[in-house]
Amino acid sequence: MNSCTPTIRNGSRPFSEDFARLAAQESLSRQDLVKILGAKKPEDIEAVRAEAERVLLANCGDGVFLRGLVEASSACACDCLYCGIRKSSRDVNRYTLSLDDILACARQCADYGYGSMVIQSGERADKKFIDLVAEAVTHIKAETRSEQQPDGLGITLCIGQQTYDTYKRLFDAGGHRYLLRIETTNPELFAKIHPSDQTFESRVECLGMLRDIGYQVGTGVMIGLPGQTLDDLAGDILFFGKYDIDMIGMGPFIPHPDTPLGDAPCPDVPERIRLALLMIAATRLKLRDVNIASTTALQALDPVGREKGLKFGANVIMPQMSPTDVRADYQLYPGKPCLDENAKECQSCLNMRIEFAGRKIGLYAWGDSKHAVKRRKRDDQPA
Ligand code: SF4
Repeated sequence: MNSCTPTIRNGSRPFSEDFARLAAQESLSRQDLVKILGAKKPEDIEAVRAEAERVLLANCGDGVFLRGLVEASSACACDCLYCGIRKSSRDVNRYTLSLDDILACARQCADYGYGSMVIQSGERADKKFIDLVAEAVTHIKAETRSEQQPDGLGITLCIGQQTYDTYKRLFDAGGHRYLLRIETTNPELFAKIHPSDQTFESRVECLGMLRDIGYQVGTGVMIGLPGQTLDDLAGDILFFGKYDIDMIGMGPFIPHPDTPLGDAPCPDVPERIRLALLMIAATRLKLRDVNIASTTALQALDPVGREKGLKFGANVIMPQMSPTDVRADYQLYPGKPCLDENAKECQSCLNMRIEFAGRKIGLYAWGDSKHAVKRRKRDDQPA
């Protein structure tokens, strides 16, 4: 038998020993990552998936942590060329939730046992909005404490590029994680999908500020962008490692018809799903103890996309908690799932999906990434 011959493991799925050996390597190079991302035969993909799942379970356990997602405002000051709520999109209904609305969503998260919530919005730096977010964070920390969760909900913020002072203010109020997606770490590709007033360098600078302030830092990329190569994607994974990123949210690029990239050529849907799943697996294999979200963008292209994401190495899911009457007004991409289900229906559906993937739901826990926990311990040690 030569090394490329597929063999059968567990009596069912074809499994390539060649890719299993590659995926099990201690330290994956850029070329190794490109080879993993290029896996096309089912037996090669299965070997990568199985090793990524093994690495996940060994380093992070079998819990899936839930972050209730609240989309606080669909207004945005930016004009990213791929985004359905970019400021130039005239047909978007721009809303901002009230403090009471946000707090009601937070209480619901706490009632369902979700350990954390995410406050997400378009990028807004106006004082009124930042005051609202700061006030919401302060109230949520005070009002969601319970016997099961004495420190209240964990709060992730995802409201774009801000000044150091704003990041610090929101951290001091109680936000402890921040997600700022870089979208691609190839500066030339970044420049092609953003207007000239947004630069790759300033986004990287913001990631540095967030780390300096003490946040657990998350970022992520789109997969299947026009002109994006496997080498770009391998570079994205190396970037996550270089910048010591704690949590990663990646999803397939889904062109929005009302944007400048609406007709841009990109790989077909099965190819984007294959690449997105292999990016999750390759990131897990390279970085091992980070949190990786199985995003709704995956589910938008594949009804069982999020379950597949879990099987390829993801360990976080963000159930929709925004009020149902505003969900359709926050569509970064078309085909967003869960537009009509209320939070209770989303909860039952997700529980079923997580159990279907053979995993446990991590209730009443912040579910910080093991990577961040280890760094904190290291930083706390006396010099
Ligand atoms: S991706 Fe974010 S910052 Fe860019 S236009 Fe959309 S909401 Fe605004």
